[in-house]
Amino acid sequence: MTNQFKLSASGLLFIAVHFVCLSVIWLGITWQAAALCAGMFLVRKFGITGGYHRYFSHRSYKTSRFFQFVLAFIGGASAQKGALWWAAHHRHHHKHSDTEEDLHSAKLEGFYWSHVGWVLSNEYDEYESKAVQDLTKYPELVFIDKYHWIPPVTVAVGCYLVGGWIGLVWGFFVSTVILYHTTFAINSLCHMFGNRRYETGEHSKNSLWLAFLTLGEGWHNNHHHYPISCRQGFFWYEVDITYYVLKTLSFFHIVWDLKAPPARLLKREAMIAGQAEAAQAEAATASEPEPALASR
Ligand SMILES: [Zn+2]
Ligand SMILES: [Zn+2]
Repeated sequence: MTNQFKLSASGLLFIAVHFVCLSVIWLGITWQAAALCAGMFLVRKFGITGGYHRYFSHRSYKTSRFFQFVLAFIGGASAQKGALWWAAHHRHHHKHSDTEEDLHSAKLEGFYWSHVGWVLSNEYDEYESKAVQDLTKYPELVFIDKYHWIPPVTVAVGCYLVGGWIGLVWGFFVSTVILYHTTFAINSLCHMFGNRRYETGEHSKNSLWLAFLTLGEGWHNNHHHYPISCRQGFFWYEVDITYYVLKTLSFFHIVWDLKAPPARLLKREAMIAGQAEAAQAEAATASEPEPALASR
């Protein structure tokens, strides 16, 4: 990807949201504001992880048309554009991970571009509608994607009505910034730091601490290896809160047909390939001479 950088209008808003957060210096914090911030983070984060990612991008479970719209709304409230835009770009990432075609390859473009550079750029304002044909057949999804400002503005107004200015800043602005950076860390840090279990042909990693911060999305190497699995923590000890929520919703028949990783992937032999590949790459890097020393 060539990055002829031009700031987009939504990129400008993204920066403005960060600046508004500075007003906490004057507003301070209260228990109610902190609780609103945490609540708004958790619900909207699930909208991204359980909605935008595991449902719209990967169709890793099924749900009703009504709940599908609910997911589009609460994911949209995170101010990360519409579900169709998000899913189209994310499907593209899986198809071209860490190649020249990847929109946000941490390996090829570095941390800054993979984390926020591509989001700020006006190059990706549009999306390939062919990539999300399965979703564009629902007019209500097309509508909420087109008018993607409606959910975040609704949440912002709600926060103001509940908690005044301090409620608005902590409940909407601060939690939105935390949502941005925890989501984007999967594109950047999860392709840079962590462990590799499976050979996937790109640089995705598994990271426990990112799994905590992102309700289970840190098991990114597992996910790249088998993206259609609703569960991204493949073992009981791999914390995956999004999956626990979806499993709970399935008891109430709100969602169903949660796809699981096949048993063959959980066998030791399947995992060794990825570990051997990682060890090989590490050995190759270690044996490369230091450029400064080699030139002496
Ligand atoms: Zn990835
Ligand atoms: Zn994915």
